[in-house]
Amino acid sequence: MLYKASDSRYEKMDYNRCGASGLKLPAISLGLWHNFGDIDTFQNSREMVLKAFDLGITHFDLANNYGPPPGSAEENFGRILRRDLKPYRDEIIVSSKAGHRMWPGPYGDWGSRKYLVASLDQSLLRLGMEYVDIFYHHRPDPNTPIHESMSALDYIVRSGRALYVGISNYSAEQTKEAASILRQLGTPCLIHQPPYNMFKRGLEGELLQTLAQEKIGCITFSPLAQGLLTDKYLDGIPADTRFSRFAPSKRKQHLSEQKLEKVRQLNDMALQRGQTLAQMALLWNLRHPVVTSVLIGASNVSQIEDSAGALDAGELSKAEINAIEEILD
Ligand code: NDP
Repeated sequence: MLYKASDSRYEKMDYNRCGASGLKLPAISLGLWHNFGDIDTFQNSREMVLKAFDLGITHFDLANNYGPPPGSAEENFGRILRRDLKPYRDEIIVSSKAGHRMWPGPYGDWGSRKYLVASLDQSLLRLGMEYVDIFYHHRPDPNTPIHESMSALDYIVRSGRALYVGISNYSAEQTKEAASILRQLGTPCLIHQPPYNMFKRGLEGELLQTLAQEKIGCITFSPLAQGLLTDKYLDGIPADTRFSRFAPSKRKQHLSEQKLEKVRQLNDMALQRGQTLAQMALLWNLRHPVVTSVLIGASNVSQIEDSAGALDAGELSKAEINAIEEILD
């Protein structure tokens, strides 16, 4: 069936300015790390992307290695773009990244100019796009001069392969250095993509301050702690969930009884304010003015509908933020 986007798609979503740039991002963005690879059902992936767009989620986040197999999430998104979203290309922000191992040998990983440029060229072929809107260096490289990685990002913009660039998983100190180099080169750092959720709070402190000072936008990944900050694990680990596929030791680390007790209390609190825990966890991320967007994942359409409803219940009050803090303490 030919897809036609919902006429009401811009009615409920908030769009936040990304740092000091001209670009606005939806408060909620969709990441394609899990559930969009060739091992997944294409029809489900397609329905999720289209539902997201219908709900005002205009930003889709990819990386060279998303799948499995690596690269297949970009290929599948490219198919959806060609088949359904082509008329809407200019209403959509697509990002990709390079930094993790993508092909064998010394040029398929990390942060050299050789790897970053070649990887984006491969991503563009898989996506079937002339350019991505945002291209990230996925992780800092301890062995390549940061100037080389940043000048590759600058070149990528100047050569028309990307409109904006960002960094991911960089520390506060690395962010300052990267931002300064990019500024000198004339291609400002648009955005940083760090992990952030109630159980992973490394963003708070120096990095948050740095992003505010440097006027860099911020899109937080895994805001639901990969599904822990929802009601799905309250009574065990259902089959067909992400944690059910984790190795036992990793499962234990993510799902300790101590964490689950906190999740139960958080879930009660969310229900009291008339929303789901997933929705409250997303609002909690968005309480920082620096956070432009939260980058969710999903395995079905109803999760996207749930997350997109996060803004409906209104901002968290100071008292509510303190109550969450007490539960997490
Ligand atoms: P989340 O923390 O949002 O976890 C998503 C998972 O939570 C889903 O797959 C689903 O699990 C579960 N879930 C989501 N919504 C609901 C809901 N409403 N109710 C119940 N369960 C729900 O994010 P991800 O860890 O998936 O990361 C999001 C994106 O962030 C990635 O796709 C990627 O774009 C980016 N990312 C970037 C990284 C980086 O290094 N830059 C690293 C990691 C992620 P289930 O599948 O079990 O149903």
